[in-house]
Amino acid sequence: MAHVKLHIPGPVEVSEKTFAAFCSPMVGHRGQGFKDLYAKVQPRLQTLFQTRQLVYLSTSSAWGVMEGSIRNLVAKRVLCCMCGAFSDKWLDVARRCGKEAEGLQAEWGQPVRAELIDKKLATGGFDALTLIHNETSTGTMSPLAEIAKLKQKYPEVMFIVDAVSSLSAVEIDFDALGIDVLLAGTQKAFAMPPGLTVFTCSQAALAKAATLRDRGYYFDFIEFQKNAEQHMTPSTPSIGHVYALASKLEDFFAEGLEARYARHLALAVKTRDWALSRGFTLFPEPGFESVTLACVNNGAKPGGRVVDAAKLQKLVKDQGILIDGGYGKIKGTTFRLSSMGDETGATMQRLYDALDEALKQLS
Ligand SMILES: *Cc1c(COP(=O)(O)O)cnc(C)c1O
Repeated sequence: MAHVKLHIPGPVEVSEKTFAAFCSPMVGHRGQGFKDLYAKVQPRLQTLFQTRQLVYLSTSSAWGVMEGSIRNLVAKRVLCCMCGAFSDKWLDVARRCGKEAEGLQAEWGQPVRAELIDKKLATGGFDALTLIHNETSTGTMSPLAEIAKLKQKYPEVMFIVDAVSSLSAVEIDFDALGIDVLLAGTQKAFAMPPGLTVFTCSQAALAKAATLRDRGYYFDFIEFQKNAEQHMTPSTPSIGHVYALASKLEDFFAEGLEARYARHLALAVKTRDWALSRGFTLFPEPGFESVTLACVNNGAKPGGRVVDAAKLQKLVKDQGILIDGGYGKIKGTTFRLSSMGDETGATMQRLYDALDEALKQLS
């Protein structure tokens, strides 16, 4: 069957170079071959995360580390910042871990505001906070720098940040932000196959984790740190993923991080312009639009053009491209166009052309 090019916001299209690296011959995960491989990617990951801490490799999708963060760092009560499907779910996950958890709900399409977080933390009832930087379900980015500043006011609170669909597409300076956990699954902005998550922890987070019981084993942050010091992972990792990661990091640094960030911003703006010029409006609050995808309003909010999203998706798919027809409670009343990963002006133009052709057929 012919391949359908992915323009959904994860998993995204994977390059032939990345797949070739993924299929490298196997090595033992306790041998020098693997240690050399991890030692090679470590400094590049540290540059990407802008940290002196070690960056860990978790063979899991992002939820593994998102759940792990709760189990490692919440002793008292966690405040879950919510503004879309993924961030809303984190509250549920925290409760399923048996933790006391409270939601700070923003309307979908709105960012989470630092002032509101400040008010909640001022009650003194929380020892951890979860935040999704780029809420992929609504294409909305919350102001991370502003929110991270609160860490100075609440040093005891663990700031856990999901950058699954933003890390490597926009600058995130882990050490300067002063946050405690930063994580990213690799099938989104990294454009790798799903199954690997990269993350780092502050010294304070490691110290806090050491005081918690019931961290479990697979996602025990102390185990990740101890093993990473020896260029290893706690259990057998998906070694193919680590080869793919090494190859992907080569690509990142060959392009240059600044150029990569600029490319993502330019493509996101181009996609927003396409939507606006075709009579649609955007779902996110103006000024908080994602830099890796466009969440196009299609009836979820008043104003703008409305089309049959399922039909649009099908007509685009008939041309060999998969777009997303909306997620969760805004399925159909929004649709999403991803520009994350390896996309260029030329590949995005093919998407816009396919969308235009589909719109022509719809009207
Ligand atoms: C995709 C996504 C997740 C969940 O990732 P899985 O790979 O399904 O575990 C979490 N957070 C954000 C922001 C995402 O986009």
